[in-house]
Amino acid sequence: MAARILDGTSVATAIRDELKPRIAAFATSMGRPPGLGIVLAGHDPASEIYVRNKLKKAEEIGLHAELIRVDASAHVQDVLDVVGRLNRRDDIDGIIVQSPLPATMGDDAEMRVIDAIDPLKDVDGFSTVNVGRLVQNRGGLAACTPTGVIEILERSGVPIKGAHAVVIGRSDIVGKPMALMLLHRHATVTICHSRTRDLPAVARTADILVAAIGRPAFVTPDFVKPGAVVVDVGTTQVTDAAVVDAIFAVASPRRAVFAKNGSLVVGDVHPAVAEVAGAITPVPGGVGPLTIALLLANTVRAAEARLAR
Ligand code: NAP
Repeated sequence: MAARILDGTSVATAIRDELKPRIAAFATSMGRPPGLGIVLAGHDPASEIYVRNKLKKAEEIGLHAELIRVDASAHVQDVLDVVGRLNRRDDIDGIIVQSPLPATMGDDAEMRVIDAIDPLKDVDGFSTVNVGRLVQNRGGLAACTPTGVIEILERSGVPIKGAHAVVIGRSDIVGKPMALMLLHRHATVTICHSRTRDLPAVARTADILVAAIGRPAFVTPDFVKPGAVVVDVGTTQVTDAAVVDAIFAVASPRRAVFAKNGSLVVGDVHPAVAEVAGAITPVPGGVGPLTIALLLANTVRAAEARLAR
């Protein structure tokens, strides 16, 4: 039997709708809407699309989002200066610096910039303060993508307490915070990575399997226990027709999308997994839309927390 599709687009819409009255109430109290500062250094094409979507979604729910551009040839100190100004602005409640920063800014640029953001305005939840608060389950601003995964699981009625959750991927922005969030909801959590021995066998023990790897269709049916819930965080832009043909059946509508656009966003989970899993998040339309919705939610939370101080 084909898996139940967990629809991230409708969950994201519900989350944004729930934010609207909170934004209106904040605006009534403060005489301004919550404010989000987005710093974009350079012109990375994918970043341009992500930022445009963030601005559009923010505007749609009445949140003030402001784009601050930094030249691609700028020094990391220029980004730090912009962040410093946003930290000091009273009308800005949340700050994000779009990743990746230009390579010329240096290997440690992202960490330096994250460290410079006021933790109370760190709506990506990447700062050491907010990561520490997550580790200790003390609330605070937590990473948007794994928070989105929790939202879709909980709103879809997937039991987390007592479940065995396997997270493939241990990045700071997805895998690690994902594992902690599942742990705090009383799942038994296993974290896997590129050195895990016999990964399919470990993955097959999961009631909830989260794939955050960045390798198209890596998770095949032999990774999945029949009936398991599979969350596909991966998004890889595929431009090679041979790769698309190898993953998607001739009748798959995804092939037509590739033929039209010349590229296709492909998740980490192979389409054949839908025949084994009990429920699955699609790509696109699964975790992706939730990430922006949770960024907006974090901004509203940050604004409300400042109001309460
Ligand atoms: P990342 O920093 O590159 O981390 C990838 C993780 O996958 C690493 O922990 C790596 O293990 C593991 N991995 C790589 N190859 C593996 C293999 N053969 N077997 C087992 N594990 C393997 O990536 P990320 O930032 O976490 O993102 C992961 C994916 O999620 C990407 O496709 C990204 O585009 C997507 N993403 C989507 C959203 C969204 O909004 N939908 C948001 C963020 C990320 P090691 O640590 O051992 O190297």
